[in-house]
Amino acid sequence: MYDVIIVGGGASGLACALTLASSRGRGWNWAEGRTYLVFDTGESDLHKAYLKNVPGVQPMTGTQLLEVIKEQIKDWGGVEFSEEKVVEIKKDGEVYKVYTEAGKEYSAKYVVLAGGFKEFSIKGLELEVVENPKSPKPGRVMIKHIDFEVMPNLFVVGTLAGLSSHFTSCAGSGVEVAIEILSRMAGKRIVIHDVPQD
Ligand SMILES: Cc1cc2nc3c(=O)[nH]c(=O)nc-3n(C[C@H](O)[C@H](O)[C@H](O)COP(=O)(O)OP(=O)(O)OC[C@H]3O[C@@H](n4cnc5c(N)ncnc54)[C@H](O)[C@@H]3O)c2cc1C
Repeated sequence: MYDVIIVGGGASGLACALTLASSRGRGWNWAEGRTYLVFDTGESDLHKAYLKNVPGVQPMTGTQLLEVIKEQIKDWGGVEFSEEKVVEIKKDGEVYKVYTEAGKEYSAKYVVLAGGFKEFSIKGLELEVVENPKSPKPGRVMIKHIDFEVMPNLFVVGTLAGLSSHFTSCAGSGVEVAIEILSRMAGKRIVIHDVPQD
């Protein structure tokens, strides 16, 4: 059983995973030994992008930026990746069961939906999927939520949460949700800040 399963490893999903992973190695007992899994079928919109308006980031392709974030996640450790496609999620008491196209079953206490706004075809949950009002293109979807939470301990981030399709907006929502989950684990509000080493 994982602590958090993230469905989608694009801008919002990887930002969420990076913030979760960055809680490790700080002497916080509640954060140690936590397990995180990212499912990603490799179709992030970032693969089509050349980024020149991401604050603080030198111009680079979206594919390069995804690789940079994956390296940052590896440096913290504790995050597993799978290329399987998630096809169904069911709530079983306090646990979410996640099923993949390959017929495997995984479980987690928290699930973060980060699959982008092109479609939402995952079965098993009663979610309100509506037209995405911030997309200039028709046919894009979003899932209704309150503060990114769709049902207890199940969150939605990125364009699928109805944010405008920009790296920083989507990544920011992943960070927000990661901090919310970590705060629930800690039993108090937290932030994760680092300072320069001497
Ligand atoms: C041509 C183009 C140019 C762009 N240029 C810019 C730019 O200059 N600046 C900027 O800020 N933004 C730009 N963007 C927007 C940016 O790419 C998106 O806003 C951002 O990628 C959205 O993040 P996301 O996490 O919502 O979805 P994505 O990054 O699209 O990630 C979703 C991921 O979920 C995976 N997935 C979906 N369903 C499943 C499933 N069931 N199981 C497992 N994995 C799943 C997909 O394979 C994908 O990897 C551009 C986009 C495009 C298309």
